[in-house]
Amino acid sequence: MTIAYDLEKELRLHEQSLAPYATRSSESRGRALDEGECENRSEFQRDRDRVIHSKAFRRLEYKTQVFINHEGDLYRTRLTHSIEVAQIARSISRALGLNEDLTEAIALAHDLGHTAFGHAGQDALNICMRNYGGFEHNLQSLRVVDTLEEKYAQFDGLNLTFETREGILKHCSLKNARSMGLVGERFIQRTQPGLEAQLTNIADEIAYNNHDVDDGLRSGLITIEQLRQVEIFEHQFQQVAEKYPLLNPKRQSNEVIRRIINQLIQDLLQTTRANLSENNIRSAAEVKAMQTMLAAFSPDTKRQNAALKSFLHKNLYQHERVQEMSASAQTVITELFETFFNQPDQLPEKHLRLAQLMREKEGDFGLARVVADYIAGMTDRYALSQHQQLKMS
Ligand code: MG
Repeated sequence: MTIAYDLEKELRLHEQSLAPYATRSSESRGRALDEGECENRSEFQRDRDRVIHSKAFRRLEYKTQVFINHEGDLYRTRLTHSIEVAQIARSISRALGLNEDLTEAIALAHDLGHTAFGHAGQDALNICMRNYGGFEHNLQSLRVVDTLEEKYAQFDGLNLTFETREGILKHCSLKNARSMGLVGERFIQRTQPGLEAQLTNIADEIAYNNHDVDDGLRSGLITIEQLRQVEIFEHQFQQVAEKYPLLNPKRQSNEVIRRIINQLIQDLLQTTRANLSENNIRSAAEVKAMQTMLAAFSPDTKRQNAALKSFLHKNLYQHERVQEMSASAQTVITELFETFFNQPDQLPEKHLRLAQLMREKEGDFGLARVVADYIAGMTDRYALSQHQQLKMS
């Protein structure tokens, strides 16, 4: 005898099981192009799946987070970073009764627009684009899912739901917001995105602070002794040293890091729950109408987390060796931009056609954007090989 499984009912039950302030797929503001419902997945599951199948997602494997890909096999890449963000965000989401599928879709998509070579790459491209509207990886992530992916017969981009797109757009200047339609509205009205988007933003920070500590130690650019000057690290270090006095340094730091992650998540859960109850929040609409974000750390944890972040800035991101890498990355990105902008016929056929079209429409602004889109899509090694080739030609 086959037991009938009523999928539609299960999807409905799942929605009912969520907290009242969760974002519900059935209440989505929908997609730019209405595609009708999927028979076996909720709208946010569908978004998540589209992100995973995108070309931009696969490229994340070969884009630097902090350490260049070829420096070692164990360092984070943009891909493993995005997966760690998704893991942290999903567990927070589930603990709060929120929509895990939406959370995962936002987390996996949040860095799709990032350039090669980490922040150095994005800063360099932003400088190249200063007279043409600038470059910001967050806006670019939205651009990837809205227009740049070429996968579907019916539309450009991934045609994601409003809620996933809203979550991807973490920040946006007022000037940009005015030209972005619905997804820009909240920056003008100073309202908030859903809780899934709010917590994914914090999960991003929890993930990178902690994996950068780990990668920083692995690289030898920072040491445990230095980190012990940071309150949150020292606090967990003491506990680990007391409980496991004979641990080797690698296990010791791993144990400290996992405890810091737990401490941050626990605080975030507690503070967010307290904020929800203090403000008597009963729906996703009430979350969005607030003047401030409800997902937050307590003031003390916020301060400790900021101290860890500024330690990393000072001792890792501005470390001589990371700076050297950043300087050569800047040269590569800048020279690629200048070459393609001044000699568009060096662009591959498809991009050249688009560049000509955009130049006719918008002049240098249009051309610059096509060049920036092309460069932003490049992986580290592709950018390096393109740079090498252009130098030789
Ligand atoms: Mg990130």
